[in-house]
Amino acid sequence: IGHIIVLRNITAFKEQDLAKTHFIATISHELKTPLAATDLSLKLLGDERTGPLSSGQHELLDSIREDNRRMIRMVSELLDFSRVESGNIGLQVQAVPPADILQYALQTVARQAAGKEVDIRTEIPGTTTPVLADAEKSAWVLVNLLTNAIRYSPPKSEVELTVEEEEKMWRFGVRDRGKGIDAGFREKIFERFFRVPEAEGGKGTGLGLAIAREFIEAQGGSIGVESEPGKGSYFWFRLPKA
Ligand code: ADP
Repeated sequence: IGHIIVLRNITAFKEQDLAKTHFIATISHELKTPLAATDLSLKLLGDERTGPLSSGQHELLDSIREDNRRMIRMVSELLDFSRVESGNIGLQVQAVPPADILQYALQTVARQAAGKEVDIRTEIPGTTTPVLADAEKSAWVLVNLLTNAIRYSPPKSEVELTVEEEEKMWRFGVRDRGKGIDAGFREKIFERFFRVPEAEGGKGTGLGLAIAREFIEAQGGSIGVESEPGKGSYFWFRLPKA
């Protein structure tokens, strides 16, 4: 409990990996500022601070803004990744009610789910044994799994968010009714930059699950997936009980 720094064995890294990580960190850091500035300028334009816009111009502006936001998300994912890779994950481990992690994650993905008319079903647990975890990083993982579930599901489908108490661990789960993942890819998707060939739903980085695994394992947990192609996937992670 308290502030724990997990240091990975840097010597195990190849020099080339370190150079790559440094490169990614520099580029993503440099890209962040102009992208954020662009978002603000686009907002001012959209609010018609510089004069009225036609509905066509509004439509175009919204789409530019959405693309820009996607770039911001990707860049911040790359930054997270380079932090993980450089071996410093600053973990703030404390006793957290599982309901807090659930609620934070639900709020974060509400808009994305509504946009695709995906229903997220869940039961928020009452007062129970807390999780021993870094609240922010655990919520980040859950948000990532939910975002994927929504992204890789058909519109108007259902996503189920579960949390189950086991003997020594809490098990969080996200079940979707999307296209599922072929057996041959189920391990690979947790590798850096790996994306299932011709994955629908877009332009990801292939980093989300790799970072998720690093975050969960650094906290003494485990993460995995069960899936039936054509029927859906069930992503889960376990974290120790306090
Ligand atoms: P990204 O989504 O940015 O590509 P991730 O690491 O989050 O990166 O996921 C890696 C790959 O795993 C995705 O490209 C996708 O092919 C597959 N995947 C992840 N979640 C799901 C899901 N719920 N259903 C189907 N495929 C998934």
